Amino acid sequence: MMVLLVQRGPRLNRLIAPSPSSRIMSGVRVRFAPSPTGYLHVGGARTALYNWLFARHVGGVFILRIEDTDMDRSKPELTTAILESLEWLGLTWDEGPVYQSQRLARYREMALNLERSGHAYPCFCTPEELQAKRAQAEAERRAWKYDGACRALSAAERERRRAEGRPSAIRFRVPDSGQTSFEDQVFGHIEVQHRDLEDFVLLRSDGHPTYHLGVVADDLDLRVTHVIRGADHISNTPKQILMYRALEAPVPAFAHLPLILGPDKQRLSKRHGATSVGAYREQGVLPEALVNFLVLLGWTPPGQKEIVPREEMIRDFELTAVSKSNAVFDLEKLAWMNSEYVRNLPAEQLRPLVERELTKAGLGARDSGFAPRQEERFKQTVLLLQSRARTLQDFSGAFRAFFTDEFTYDPEAEKKFWKDAALPALIDALAERLAATEPFDVAATEKTLRSLAEEKGVKAGLLINAARVALTGQAVAPGLFEVMLALGRDRVISRLHRAAAHLRAGGK
Ligand code: GLU
Repeated sequence: MMVLLVQRGPRLNRLIAPSPSSRIMSGVRVRFAPSPTGYLHVGGARTALYNWLFARHVGGVFILRIEDTDMDRSKPELTTAILESLEWLGLTWDEGPVYQSQRLARYREMALNLERSGHAYPCFCTPEELQAKRAQAEAERRAWKYDGACRALSAAERERRRAEGRPSAIRFRVPDSGQTSFEDQVFGHIEVQHRDLEDFVLLRSDGHPTYHLGVVADDLDLRVTHVIRGADHISNTPKQILMYRALEAPVPAFAHLPLILGPDKQRLSKRHGATSVGAYREQGVLPEALVNFLVLLGWTPPGQKEIVPREEMIRDFELTAVSKSNAVFDLEKLAWMNSEYVRNLPAEQLRPLVERELTKAGLGARDSGFAPRQEERFKQTVLLLQSRARTLQDFSGAFRAFFTDEFTYDPEAEKKFWKDAALPALIDALAERLAATEPFDVAATEKTLRSLAEEKGVKAGLLINAARVALTGQAVAPGLFEVMLALGRDRVISRLHRAAAHLRAGGK
């Protein structure tokens, strides 16, 4: 069989059998391994993205694994939501999903193998005993680590206790002395002393694997070559390397990704706003914008570009260019990024997204008889609003008046532009003149408004601003005469009269 030599950092080259697929040339295999105990978090999405980009950059395989062995906290609907979020982001996987819950027998076998080879041993300590020892250590202000009570039991004693049916976990036997080190592709040389590690549990007494056992068994069986994951896993890595060595298996390369912090430099959490990919989707963020935003949380593309099309990400992404400094999740930047993407989206792609947003907001289907929703008008309206949108939600929010008659006046806009006592009469007069304006286009409607202003001795701006609030409910909107065209003559007239009446009634 042909084998490929894979570059895996300075001292980690090894031989790997190639994947059967001819498309896959590099032998590189990476995985994203979320636990379905929550929705896909933006940090998880960044990890998935970096794995995906690395795989696509080198022509490797991207594997999806669902770490669902925590029976109490894992939920199938969360798995579904995670898969949906990944698909929405366009992070398609080549293999999997592999479900850990279907591999329990394999984990058990691996733990028993480690026990047979002397690298692990059964531990009969009960949770109560462990808890008491931990409390004691805390009371004495000693750092607690497992004291190795079951480490030295004789084979006969172990068998006796097992025969009695005493529940036991299986613990890994960490060497007494020495150290384990590795060259992290992002963080560089990392080393821990074995005396600082405890004999960690591999298999729980209920037969379920711990995270370490599941991860190592799977990464090995899936022939993962590069483990790319959050920096919060750095401290787990030496333990996992000890397991690979005990199993006499090749050790993959490791690349840990910088933590993501909120603007206050604290670990990103709900306090900082939405943290799930789904929430940003609901808020009208485009997947390409979110991907672009996430890719910059730890990686600087050549030329320090901000807007990076996906093909360029794939072309330029390098693990060695990932920074180890914490990244800051800046919502303002995401909003800016999204508006760039919305602005530059081809109109045919934007329209269905706007339709979806409007439907979601209960603004009905296009056959409502509302003029701006009719095919041609709708196209023009979306085009008119596109350059001002920051998110898709703007279409059902700030731009609501373009799609329904049910909208309210923004109180700030009222305060600013509806102060003048002459306005009700002026606005009614404008409506009457517009009823007779021919043709009803940008030039003629503008002329109508300006000559009315001149005639009444007021500034055109006064009328323009007041009419904008009357037609859109907002102080800021596209050019007034384009807005008139988008809404159509009848709606313009009725909205102007409505505003005048509202003003006469004292703003009620
Ligand atoms: N299930 C783990 C997590 O969600 C994955 C850890 C790993 O990639 O090794 O953090």
